[in-house]
Amino acid sequence: MPDPHLIRSPNADSRPDGSVPELIVIHAISLPPERFGGSGVEQLFTNRLDPSGHPYYAQIHTLRVSAHYFIRRTGALICFVPPELRAWHAGVSMWRGRERCNDFSIGIELEGCDTLPFEAVQYAVLAGLIADLCVRFPIAGITGHSHIAPGRKTDPGPRFSWARLRQLLSDAGQGEVASRIEPDGWGSDDDELLVAWPFPVGARPA
Ligand SMILES: [Zn+2]
Repeated sequence: MPDPHLIRSPNADSRPDGSVPELIVIHAISLPPERFGGSGVEQLFTNRLDPSGHPYYAQIHTLRVSAHYFIRRTGALICFVPPELRAWHAGVSMWRGRERCNDFSIGIELEGCDTLPFEAVQYAVLAGLIADLCVRFPIAGITGHSHIAPGRKTDPGPRFSWARLRQLLSDAGQGEVASRIEPDGWGSDDDELLVAWPFPVGARPA
């Protein structure tokens, strides 16, 4: 795993007393939507998004949000918030009956969207990062934003393959870490398999 490039986000604070990271939440984001390689995400997470830069930016530039990590299409890894602190990525959310997932989770954003496959290098960097975080923190579960905020969020979306992430970790001798991945939902690089998305969580096309 590459050392992350540090860009500090002001959108973070201390975790509540006694809270440690127990959950990893995987997200996808691109700014402008479905465009890659620009500085929009970095600007959003540092409260410097120019509302005149794109029509969508005018809607979101006042949001105060962040994630701990961002993995670009190139595999470049950026850390916006140290995992010891609370980042503001999950919003209204629930995991195993517990609300306010920001308190006890680590948020990882992939540069991506619902309509395009993720890059192989993104899966590789993500797997390495997850394995590292599972050594450092008592991570009990790995899930998606859509799974802790159903109906409100769709990311990381139908193009994200949980099976592929699970396989990568297993192949790297991290089968125990792979077993902490909760979603079994389909995700695929194959367009034909995505026609009927969204599938119910856990379901696959025949
Ligand atoms: Zn998200």
